[in-house]
Amino acid sequence: MDNAICRGKLHGPAVFFRRGADYQWPIQFISDNIAQWGYNAQQLVDQGWRYDALVHPDDVTGLRNELDLVMKKRAGQYTLHYRIFTADQRVRRVVEFGTYYLENGEGAHFEGYLLDSTRYEDMEHKLREVEDHLEKLTGSSLAGIYIIQHDRFVYVNERFAHIFGYQPEELMNQPATIIAKPGDEALMLDTLRRRIDGEPGSSRTYQNVHKEGHLVDVEVLGNRIIYRNEPAVIGTVIDLSATGETYRRLKLADTILHHTNEGVAVTDAKGLIQWVNPAFTDITGYSLQEVEGMNPRILKSQRHKPAFYQNMWTSLAKDGFWRGEIWNRRKNGEVYPELLTINAIRDESGSIIQYVSVFNDLSDRIKTEELLRHQKYHDSLTGLPNRFLLMDRLSVAISRAYQEQRMLALMFLDVDRFKRINDTLGHVVGDELIQAFSQRLVETLRDGDTVSRVVGDEFVILLDMVPSDEAAATVATKIVKSLTRPFSIRGHEIHITVSIGIGLYPEDGKDPETLLKNAEVAMFQAKKYGMNNYRMYSSAMNQRARLKLELESEIRSGLEKNEFFLYYQPQVDVLRGVVESAETLMRWQHPQRGLVSPGEFIPVAEETGLIIPMGLYTMRRAFQQAKEWKEKGCHHMILSFNLSPTQFQQQDLYEQIRWLLAQTHADPEMLEVEVTESTTMMDPEFAAGVLKQIKKLGIRVAMDDFGTGYSSLALLSRLPVDKLKIDRSFVTGIETSHDKQAIVTAMVGMAKRMGMVVVAEGVEKISERDYLVEIGCDLIQGFLYSKPLPLEAFQEYVSRQKNNNPIEG
Ligand code: C2E
Ligand code: CA
Ligand code: CA
Repeated sequence: MDNAICRGKLHGPAVFFRRGADYQWPIQFISDNIAQWGYNAQQLVDQGWRYDALVHPDDVTGLRNELDLVMKKRAGQYTLHYRIFTADQRVRRVVEFGTYYLENGEGAHFEGYLLDSTRYEDMEHKLREVEDHLEKLTGSSLAGIYIIQHDRFVYVNERFAHIFGYQPEELMNQPATIIAKPGDEALMLDTLRRRIDGEPGSSRTYQNVHKEGHLVDVEVLGNRIIYRNEPAVIGTVIDLSATGETYRRLKLADTILHHTNEGVAVTDAKGLIQWVNPAFTDITGYSLQEVEGMNPRILKSQRHKPAFYQNMWTSLAKDGFWRGEIWNRRKNGEVYPELLTINAIRDESGSIIQYVSVFNDLSDRIKTEELLRHQKYHDSLTGLPNRFLLMDRLSVAISRAYQEQRMLALMFLDVDRFKRINDTLGHVVGDELIQAFSQRLVETLRDGDTVSRVVGDEFVILLDMVPSDEAAATVATKIVKSLTRPFSIRGHEIHITVSIGIGLYPEDGKDPETLLKNAEVAMFQAKKYGMNNYRMYSSAMNQRARLKLELESEIRSGLEKNEFFLYYQPQVDVLRGVVESAETLMRWQHPQRGLVSPGEFIPVAEETGLIIPMGLYTMRRAFQQAKEWKEKGCHHMILSFNLSPTQFQQQDLYEQIRWLLAQTHADPEMLEVEVTESTTMMDPEFAAGVLKQIKKLGIRVAMDDFGTGYSSLALLSRLPVDKLKIDRSFVTGIETSHDKQAIVTAMVGMAKRMGMVVVAEGVEKISERDYLVEIGCDLIQGFLYSKPLPLEAFQEYVSRQKNNNPIEG
């Protein structure tokens, strides 16, 4: 547990701890506010205290068994109830909200916080105890009470002042040493300092000085408190010159005052306040001076009707007792509920002489209950729902999804290599990173989604309303993308990635546990496949992802085994009746699947970068073929080859081509590169540069799929293009579509003016061909003449065309 985080919470009731998980339970960290139980945090750590020394002996074995269970289940959150001893041997009940950490560079340990639940659990019990004491209390002679802060009195009650011959006002803000016996000042100040440091006090007798100069024998008991947000010493003083019965009563009063959190007010028979305790002041905001002699009516809240108070007085007169919940008003105006018990105190003759009221501030209890509930269901570091609450919401969501017959998605997230961040930058940064990350997640997702922290760097997200597995995948992608922005933590710029596993209801699990388990399995898959990614547990999408991976490895081995080769599709000069050029198109002779078209493998090759070796391979083939034809005397044939976007963007593309030319001795005049319009549009400046270089080598340039990229004419004019290939989508059905006719006519006219050769792609019908030839297309490529053909078939096709001039469709 990180100190900085604890520091921020020190004023709260939660005591943060971190202790080793070995048998000794060494305390590695404990927050300063363990002082509430009388311990000094620094000492516990420095003196190497064992945690079991704090635990009630009867509870140690039980606690060990419970924690052994937690450890068997490995990392996880837990909640335990047991008792501890305070430094002054009081027993407090605590709730421990902890997490077990298996390893994090420092060995296994427990981390978490403790909440004192004694008050809440024992309230009823204690109330009865206090009542019993008060029955015996006459209230007329109570102990002197003081609070000393910065060595000065900041509060004294009347009794205290009287013991030393003062009025309370006279002592306020006076140095405490005003009552010290000459020569004892240093001793007094030293004692105060030790109390402030948390050393518990015990009753001691002293001689102090009366205002008139004589010595007074007193018994003093002081302890540390927090008063107005700062440490102070509160204590009681009993005048030992009082004797016998009085003394015993005073001791009793002293005990009660030290051990009660309940507000106490004593009134006379007429109901006027004679005395109140410090807890009364804490709760109501009124000091003794302010209320002495007043009617408790000043506390009335207006929430109750007059009949309520009448009932109260009736039962007090009849039974001498009243108990109920009542709403009162604090000095600051705040209205609060309290559980109030009033006892009438009678003299020997039986007539009422005083009333003693004891009350608990219930708003505190309500707050504690809320706090406990919140802490039971939320993660302390991020405030996000924890595993309990997640599982709760998940089972509700599942039964709703079941009724409505729809799906939901559960995502398991794990921060990649988080341990490394913790190890190199420390836990403080690690914890703050987890906080910032959880914030980022919440911002990225919608309000209805539940983001929960399960443990450490693991988060689970419940998407209640997802229409499809694709939608869940989209959310996962959104999360992965949101992390491209780095985190800035304590001057460190930190980039993190996550691995996400997705489980879908009902496919991947019909109950919360199975669904969560399968989402986690999918997360491990994502980790295995390189992190910074997501995976579905099963489902069609996963199938697709698996296929893709399979395909990738098959492409690799296919390249090694020479399973790729070229088909050739003729481009025919209709008027002259010759095959003027041929486009080379890749094919894959797959051992099981047979002939595979580029549409199936090129996208994967592009994504994985395999297109580069593949492209080199086909370019070499095309170049070699050109060289072979030239040697056979067929040097008029132009052979084109395609370049995909990834190929085109390579820095050394020009070098590659130049090198291939040198190696194959191909004649560049016979070669033509095909680049799509959209490839060149990504960065026209760059494209122009590359194409100009290629052209300088003597290779011609064709603009492929023209018309689909919506580029401007101005752009086209800046590129060194020799040939324009009109996309099939404009060709199909052109003879009947006026729109297509208008567009293609314009394209052809423009290309001609720029001196380009125009090819129409995908021509399947004579009517299409006739229209295209009429408006000026030079070449026709399409199934009308020929499908792409293997080398021999193509060569046959060419020689056949030569013999039956002119070509007829
Ligand atoms: P593309 O460059 O537009 O190639 C023309 C595609 O249209 C070829 O598909 C061809 O078979 C098809 N085609 C030709 N005439 C007709 C017709 O009359 N009707 C119909 N329906 N289709 C026709 P293919 O061979 O499947 O190639 C698809 C795409 O794969 C090519 O589109 C090209 O972008 C890419 N490709 C093919 N070979 C290579 C290669 O070696 N390198 C790279 N980078 N890409 C290639
Ligand atoms: Ca092409
Ligand atoms: Ca094309």
